[in-house]
Amino acid sequence: MWDYSFAIPSLLILMIVMFFYFSLPRLPIKMNRVFLSIVLNEAFVIVLDIVSSLADENYRLFSVPFLIALNTAYFVFFIIRMYLYYIYTFVLLRINLPKKSILSIVDTIPMLISLSIIFAGMFTGYIFTIDDTGYHSGKLYNLIYVSNYFYLILSFILIYCFRDRIRRRRERRSIIGYNALMAIGLMVRIALPKLLLFDTFCVMAVILIYLAFENPEFFIELRSGTFNSHAFRSYIEENEGKGKYRILAFVIKNYHEMREIYGSAQMDHGIALISNFLVKNYSDRMFFYYRSGRFIVVGKADMDYKRMQEELWVRFHLPWKSNNTELYLDIGFAVIDCSEGYEHAAEVISTIGKLLETADKSGDQVCEYADKTTMEEYEDDLKNKLALESAIDNERVEIFLQPIMHADSKNLAGAEALARIRDEEGNLISPGAFIPIAEKNGRISQLGEQVFEKVCKFLSENDIEKMNMSFINVNLSPIQFMRNDLCDRFLRIIRRYGIDAEKIHLEITEESMKDEQQMLRQIEMMQRAGFLFALDDYGKGYSNLTRLKRTPFINIKIDMEVVWDHCKNPDNVLPMMVRSFKDIGFTITAEGIETEKMADQMSEMGADLLQGKLFSMPIPVNEFIKKYS
Ligand code: C2E
Ligand code: MG
Ligand code: MG
Repeated sequence: MWDYSFAIPSLLILMIVMFFYFSLPRLPIKMNRVFLSIVLNEAFVIVLDIVSSLADENYRLFSVPFLIALNTAYFVFFIIRMYLYYIYTFVLLRINLPKKSILSIVDTIPMLISLSIIFAGMFTGYIFTIDDTGYHSGKLYNLIYVSNYFYLILSFILIYCFRDRIRRRRERRSIIGYNALMAIGLMVRIALPKLLLFDTFCVMAVILIYLAFENPEFFIELRSGTFNSHAFRSYIEENEGKGKYRILAFVIKNYHEMREIYGSAQMDHGIALISNFLVKNYSDRMFFYYRSGRFIVVGKADMDYKRMQEELWVRFHLPWKSNNTELYLDIGFAVIDCSEGYEHAAEVISTIGKLLETADKSGDQVCEYADKTTMEEYEDDLKNKLALESAIDNERVEIFLQPIMHADSKNLAGAEALARIRDEEGNLISPGAFIPIAEKNGRISQLGEQVFEKVCKFLSENDIEKMNMSFINVNLSPIQFMRNDLCDRFLRIIRRYGIDAEKIHLEITEESMKDEQQMLRQIEMMQRAGFLFALDDYGKGYSNLTRLKRTPFINIKIDMEVVWDHCKNPDNVLPMMVRSFKDIGFTITAEGIETEKMADQMSEMGADLLQGKLFSMPIPVNEFIKKYS
């Protein structure tokens, strides 16, 4: 009566998925727990589907109560099946409902009603009956589909409403994909009930989920065999607001140098040895390997981290033996005490990063410490980071202009463009807070390019000569020179706006002018292309005259601290420097001019240009145009 040619192979294929799924450790998060239920439930349904169909075909061999129980069990798992897929979708979309919200109550009702009807059916025969002629569908048989369709439709609605929660396109397709497979499978079951084909569709859905979301390897750092940074993020995100932990993190000091000294293979082995050591000795804690020699141990709220720290220090005094080599590694610690819970996972993660960075750099045996209060201080940093990302992504980096005046006539000579971004409320954030972040997370090139482009746009839209201005200064970070195509990219932008390269003076800080061959090569290339360069913040770094002579600047900007210092206690040092610079042919800008007296002092000393509060602090572009047109 029934055709098993799909159901049995489907079960066998499911076995293979299960084999792989169970062969690696699984991260204890809700998504994985639900998937585990899906897989186990799937195995039950398929086995029950096959067994009950076989029994129904040979109904004479079994007692009626046994057949009723078997068929009822099948229908129960059948109903739970779709509910579990729905919950999985719900978890994937990261929908957090308050405990008593309507949806969280309503969404179990169809399943509960269906289950009640199925149990009642054991006595009433509404769903199926078994008599002398065998198994027959009951009057209300089609009710078993109602709850399935309810969950499917609800899943699709949720996917539509919360589609932005899933960023990767492949994941978005997968979540639609397995739900579509379930929908098609269900239709096939209604059309061809004897084929037992729905099971096959469900196994396809399981495989799709496995490949897109559940492969345990996604959460495991294969070198160390421990959970990876993605796992840590997921774990800590899931427990936002409710998890109470103590986190002990440690970093192998100078990890990258150590890798060079010992070799990658040896270090990888070392990392695996450390992971093994942790797993063996502290089985009640969770371990994560967070890239670049950083380990994170998550323990209960009362974990004795001091003791663990002592023990690890003792262990790290001994070498780690790896394929004939002994690795001597030094570590620095960070403790993040979340025993009172934490609000934002991102805060915990960035705090760990910060503390480990400090621990890595410090020379002694150290342990950096943070708890709820200290973590809140890091929140500003995090906000700046988010504001930066969003400003860059949406091309909303702004420029402010600060006038630069002729020292003799006090007329406008040019301006310096300074980057600004805004936080969520629209308040300005100044560069001191976001340039270092942009330099660290590799977005400075994009930021610099946006500033450069906005300056070009300003130059193309305004006749600066009419404002008596001949140049605009743009700051460059040394990191921007790491890109070999910097010159090409800038050239392309100025051509697009039809501007003269000479109108833009690129400022590079003295501190960043170490003997970087790459940087000098690029500066020369850009100079040949017509760009002019100025040395920013002179006096903060360690340039000597001979080197400066060789570098291709046209202007030197004296750092404001140096200017202030000289104005307070005038001596011969700065005037002599300025004279030598002018002999070589540089023009001089004095920064940080706040009073008339400072302006006079600096012009007397020989500064050609003055910049500072006295004239104006940096102001928005339209204000600048209004003021100086
Ligand atoms: P900087 O290039 O030396 O810019 C001068 C800084 O001094 C500006 O701070 C300016 O507002 C401030 N300033 C000017 N005159 C006075 C004064 O009379 N008194 C005082 N107390 N301060 C004065 P800002 O805008 O906060 O910029 C800080 C630094 O951030 C800049 O120093 C520059 O190194 C960097 N920066 C700004 N924009 C960019 C950019 O687009 N790219 C890069 N790479 N760095 C930038
Ligand atoms: Mg500057
Ligand atoms: Mg400066």
